Order: sequence, then structure tokens, then C-alpha cells
Amino acid sequence: MKKEQIERFFATLQAANPRPVTELEYTSVFELLCAVLLSAQATDVGVNKATRRLFPVANTPQQMLDLGLEGLEEQIQTIGLYRSKAKHLLQTCRILLDKHGGQVPRTREALEELPGVGRKTANVVLNVAFGEPTMAVDTHIFRLGNRTGLAPGKTPLEVERKLLKRIPAKYLEDAHHWLILHGRYVCTARKPHCERCAVIDCCDYKDKTAARP
Ligand code: SF4
Repeated sequence: MKKEQIERFFATLQAANPRPVTELEYTSVFELLCAVLLSAQATDVGVNKATRRLFPVANTPQQMLDLGLEGLEEQIQTIGLYRSKAKHLLQTCRILLDKHGGQVPRTREALEELPGVGRKTANVVLNVAFGEPTMAVDTHIFRLGNRTGLAPGKTPLEVERKLLKRIPAKYLEDAHHWLILHGRYVCTARKPHCERCAVIDCCDYKDKTAARP
């Protein structure tokens, strides 16, 4: 995708949705961290269903630890991989209390030291909670980066680096959400809905399911 196409791509997505937000439900940075940690290989809808039960009972590191492993597992058992996620979440809470005064740290290094928190989760927290222009490359963004020609790459990290380099600075803070939502609802995995795609005229995908207008 050329510079001019990229500018139009994001200007179009911005015009359609000026203030994009995550679909995960949270009311604090700690709740966001928990929700993102729980969302690996699970849908936001499924995570929200569980956290609507969990957060009213425990939404601080200490309250989460007080639930204990069994108690936490019971709360999140509808989410895939819930046993390992419960274990990691409790280990993370312990570190938050011991090393960070019960707060979620603001640096990538400190976030990635938390059990269950990888580069993608750290990027989401840095972007959504702290407004950093990071790019968390999930399955949707990886597909979109390659399919549209926006940021072709063999690994999520390659796509992440290209996106950070190519997306104009003014769009960077919200770009992550626009791309995820576009991948989730329009440029879907099996068959993209090119016939109702607002950015069809900037996209370089060769096998579009509709002709450019
Ligand atoms: S035109 Fe089709 S392939 Fe390109 S971004 Fe839109 S939905 Fe995806």
C-alpha cells in the first residue's frame, strides 16, 4: 500500500468511527489487565460474560488473591484455558503487590515480566490504559496487515514494526482498534466482506469479493 492509500485508509476508518474503544469491559487499569490476560484465544464476548461475575467479587490484586486458585477458577471456568490463566493471574497479582504497590506498571519491561502477559497484552495495556501509540498484533491485525498490503510480514512482530513505521502518527493511538474492529466485522478471516468495505479503494488485496467502486 502506498503512503497516500494508507492515509486514506485511516482517514476513512476514523470518519466512520472517530472514537473507537475496546470491546472488553473494564473500569480500571487492573480490570483491563485481567480482561486482556483472560482474552488469549477467547472472544471478548466470552471474557465479558465471565468478568461480569468476577469483577464485582474481586477487582483488586488483593481481592483476587483472596479468592484463591479454586475460587478464581470457578469464576472463570467458562473461558478457554482457564486453569493456566487463573494460575498466571494470581502470580501476576502477587507481583503487583510485592513490586508495584498494587498498581499496574506503565513500562513494557515491567508488564512483560508479569506471568501470562506477553508482548501483545503489554501493547494493549500500554495503548488502551496509558494512551501509548503501541500496536498489539492479534490474529485480525496480522491478517489485515498482510491481506491489504498495509504491513506484510511473516511474524506478528514484523507486522507490528511495519505498522508502527507506516501509520501516520496522528492515527497511531486509535489504529489498533480500527484494525481489530475492521478485521472482526468486515475483513473477516474466511471471506472478507469487500462489498460493504469502506476502504475497498485503498486495499491491495488481489482476490477481493467485490469490484472497486
Ligand atoms: S476490500 Fe476486502 S480485503 Fe480489502 S480491506 Fe476491505 S474487506 Fe478486506
